[in-house]
This record gives sequence, C-alpha cells and structure tokens, in this order.
Amino acid sequence: MQEYDIVIGLEVHAELSTKSKVFCSCKNEFGAIPNSNCCPVCIGLPGALPVLNKKAVELVIKAGLTIDSEINDLAVFERKNYFYPDLSKAYQISQLVRPICVGGELKLKNKIVRVNRIHLEEDAGKLIHSSGDAGTLIDYNRGGVPLMELVTEPDISSAEEAVEFLTKLRSLLVFAEVAECKMEQGGMRCDVNISVKPKGSNVLGNRTEMKNLNSFKSVYRAIEFESERQIELLEKGEKVVQETRKWDDDAGISYAMRKKETSQDYRYFPDPDLLAVRIKRDEVENIKRTLPLMPDELKKKYVSEFGLTDYDAEIITKEKFLINFFEETIKLHSNPKNVANWLITEILSKIKDEDQPNIKISPENLAKILNFIAEGKITRTVAKEIFAKVWEKDENIDALVKTMGGGISDDELENLILRIISSNPKAVEDFKASPTPEKQLKWFVGQVMKETRGKANAVKAEEKIKNILSK
Ligand SMILES: [Zn+2]
Repeated sequence: MQEYDIVIGLEVHAELSTKSKVFCSCKNEFGAIPNSNCCPVCIGLPGALPVLNKKAVELVIKAGLTIDSEINDLAVFERKNYFYPDLSKAYQISQLVRPICVGGELKLKNKIVRVNRIHLEEDAGKLIHSSGDAGTLIDYNRGGVPLMELVTEPDISSAEEAVEFLTKLRSLLVFAEVAECKMEQGGMRCDVNISVKPKGSNVLGNRTEMKNLNSFKSVYRAIEFESERQIELLEKGEKVVQETRKWDDDAGISYAMRKKETSQDYRYFPDPDLLAVRIKRDEVENIKRTLPLMPDELKKKYVSEFGLTDYDAEIITKEKFLINFFEETIKLHSNPKNVANWLITEILSKIKDEDQPNIKISPENLAKILNFIAEGKITRTVAKEIFAKVWEKDENIDALVKTMGGGISDDELENLILRIISSNPKAVEDFKASPTPEKQLKWFVGQVMKETRGKANAVKAEEKIKNILSK
C-alpha cells in the first residue's frame, strides 16, 4: 500500500481570564443562571454600542509574547457575518486583516510548529439541546466572552503531535494567566484541519475541518479516524471533499456537516462601531515584564540549580499547580530533589485520575514531613503513613508524629534493644565472633523494626545496637 503523510493545522480557541466580557461590562463567569449575564450589547440589540475591554487585548498580547509572536502596531476589529441561533446579532466581532499577533512558534520535543496568528474575538452563546420536550434552549451568557483564536501553520503530522502541541499551549496560557483553559467547561476548544497526501509529495490534498473538539482525547481520536477515512478514499481512487465535518465522540466517527466556507462567505468588513486599536511598543514592553518564567525556562532552572533529573523537571513544569506547589515547598524544605520525589511518586499517583487535580496536603505540611525525615525524627515508613492520614483528613502533623513513631522515645528504643539482646544470646555471640558483623547488626535492626512495626528510626537503632554490643 502507498504510504501517506498526514497534514494537520489547528485553530485553538481559549476563553480569556477577564472579569467582564469583551465589548460590554457584563460578567465573564461560568455556571451563572442562564441569560443572567446579558445586556443590549452582548445580545446585539439594534443601536447598542460595543466598548472594547482593554484587558482582553493585553491578554492576547501576553499570549503572543509567550510564543514569540510579533505584535501588530495597529489591530482592527471586523464583523464576520453569519446567522446561527447562538449569535443573536447575526455577526461576530472578530479580526481578519490585522490581528493583534502575527507569527510565532511553539517548540515540541521533535519539531517546531509555526503559528500563523492570534486574534481576539467574541464567543457566541450556547445551545442546549434538551432530551425532553423543551426542544433546544439558548443561554446567551457566553455571548461576548473574550476569546483568543490561535491558528497554526499546517506543521503537525500526527494525533500525538497535535495533543503534544495542545498540552504545551494550554500550559503556557494557564501559566501566563491568559486563560484557565478548563476544557470540561469549554474554556479551550479546538478545530482540526486535516488532509493527507502521498508520502513526500509537495501537493497538499483536500482538507476537511472538524470543529469544536473539547478534549485532548477527542482531538486524538478524531485525527486518527479522519486520516484513516481520507486514506481509504484515496486508496479506492475517490476524492476527499473539502468540507466541515462533525466529530461524534460517542460514536467515534465523523460525518459531513456542510461545505467548507471561505472567508469571502462571511463578508468580513471593519466594524464601524469600534476604532482600530493602536498598540504602543512601551505597552508591549510593560506586558512582557509581567510574564513569569515560562515552563521551558523553569525546567532548565530546576535541572541546573536544583539538580533535578530532566524527567522530574519535565513532569513538574507541565502543570502550573505542580510548579506552584513545588516552589512553595522548597521555600520550607531545603532539598528540592526530595520535594520533587515526593511530588511525583506520592502526590501525583494519588491525583492522576482526577479531572480537576486537587493536592490535599499543603506545601507547609509536606515540608514538615520532609524535615522530620531529614532530622531523623521519623522513618520514611512512618512519614508515608502520616502523609496518607493528612491526605485523608487535614490532621495536625506534630500530634501525629508524637503518636506514630516520632513517639518512640530514646529510652523506649534503648529498653527495646536491651530486651532483644538479652533474649537472643546466640545472635550476640555470632556478632561478637564475626570479623565483619554487618549481617548480624542488620538482623538486630530488623528485630527492632519488626517490634515497632517500622516506626523506629533505623539509623538511630543501628547506632545504639552497635554501641551496646561493642561494650
Ligand atoms: Zn453584556
């Protein structure tokens, strides 16, 4: 069979983290009572005038700076005309000719994906198709929520790469506090443009577009399905029709929706109600200064300054909540490698299946546990038990340490050792007779750990046993 290249371009929408909508002062808020955050501007009553939310422009500039886009000096808003029930004014305010950001790139593990542009537009309302008699309901709360749209060049060649791109982009946007990208709330959505061509060919095939995919999993499955479908058509000598297709995640198939529109179909023209936006260089510089170190830079820092492995640094810098937790904890415990270790082995294993990860222990408490281990007050075994208890129910660590092992006092430990020694004369003889008594010593330590069910401090116990037996 002929081999094929898959060519993918993405259009990613993310709702911006502003307090109010982009052209009116209604709240930008998820989950409010339907149609409660609306006004004449965002539902598009005739004569209502939009006023631009400056914060939304700043956030798009910020997004552009994280991927090395050029920021246009002049940005223009245009009307994109189309009718759909979720868009009551029959046009969406968007940008075509002069978006805020042009160009840019995102580095993946094995390639660089070029970005064509990022522009600012308004979101539409939301249709709710009820299963009962109510038919389709419309909630206009989302109408007018500021949305950035990032368009890539067709540089992506597999479902894996598409997901890698989206994961990285999401982490940048969340990190720079541009958008929260809560996918389960529709805060980040993706359109996938996809075509296939014979391997190595310079001629692009006809492409299809799948709109509004709202999970990485559905992006992955949709690409796998659609590329297979196109390859099968070509193999049969048929043509791929250029069209917009709907991805049905439950059924795991895509089906034709409508012929793909071009920008001419939308009759874009500059919105006469909005002035062009002049973006000054010093404003851009000011925004640049507010950017935190980005995940890639942090990763380098964690490896070179803290001695973390590439692998550990990569995992931690993938998510903002992990970075924050790590940074807070190392302020209170001096060994960053320990913190990374616990974060990855203990904490991540507890939250990996959760959609909205929630670390149920504070950085202060984890640091406390790690400090107790470092000071020899508790063993790792006890530490893990304490950790588990705190995770279940936020308990007082100092009290736990007292009752669980940190509670074995020096006297108690010594008495226990003396008891073990006096009831095992044969082992004592072996110890004294051996030129290298490490094995016997370990046996005694083992007895202590068994008696205390792992709660004694093994290092301390070994020292004491050695002292007593060498007398
Ligand atoms: Zn409004």
